[in-house]
Amino acid sequence: MTPLITAYIGLGSNLHQPIRQVQAAIVELKQQRHLQDVQASPIYASKPVGPQDQPDFINAVARVKTRLGPHDLLDLLQDLEQHHGRIRKRHWGERTLDLDLLTYGHAEIRTPRLTVPHPLLFTRSFVLYPFADLDAHFPFNNGLTLNHYLQKVAFDLIPVKKGN
Ligand code: ATP
Ligand code: CA
Ligand code: CA
Repeated sequence: MTPLITAYIGLGSNLHQPIRQVQAAIVELKQQRHLQDVQASPIYASKPVGPQDQPDFINAVARVKTRLGPHDLLDLLQDLEQHHGRIRKRHWGERTLDLDLLTYGHAEIRTPRLTVPHPLLFTRSFVLYPFADLDAHFPFNNGLTLNHYLQKVAFDLIPVKKGN
């Protein structure tokens, strides 16, 4: 049987009631029959990266356990994005729901569709802080923990809701 893998997913939204988008996405992750033990971080607000003439983002991180392979998990995440009517106007622009696969076990993946760990996870406050709420001691393959990266990035978020 395929082993049960723990994966972390970054959630973001800045359109169409973004707090509700992220909360609904967390509920939908919990309802997926291929995902188990879904835990969500608190929800934060952050300033957009990229174009500044767009609303603030709402962000969270979720931990899931799954037997899906990484590309099947990405398919599931992209289906959920589509279900939220994802509009992609411009690079790093506004969107109703963005779901990034941050880590998949301790796998290192580089395919045309998937780079894991997500390369920007190490420098983005809106990923590092909610990830740390779930597991600040997460060990990367280079021997460094999430905390190591967290300490290099200022806390510039606004807490919005508790996790669940
Ligand atoms: P960023 O990657 O900087 O957060 P983004 O989330 O805005 O940017 P998208 O437009 O959502 O980027 O995704 C573009 C493509 O990135 C997707 O079609 C997907 O194939 C690819 N991709 C590569 N690695 C990942 C990953 N770890 N998680 C999600 N998508 C990924
Ligand atoms: Ca993203
Ligand atoms: Ca994305």
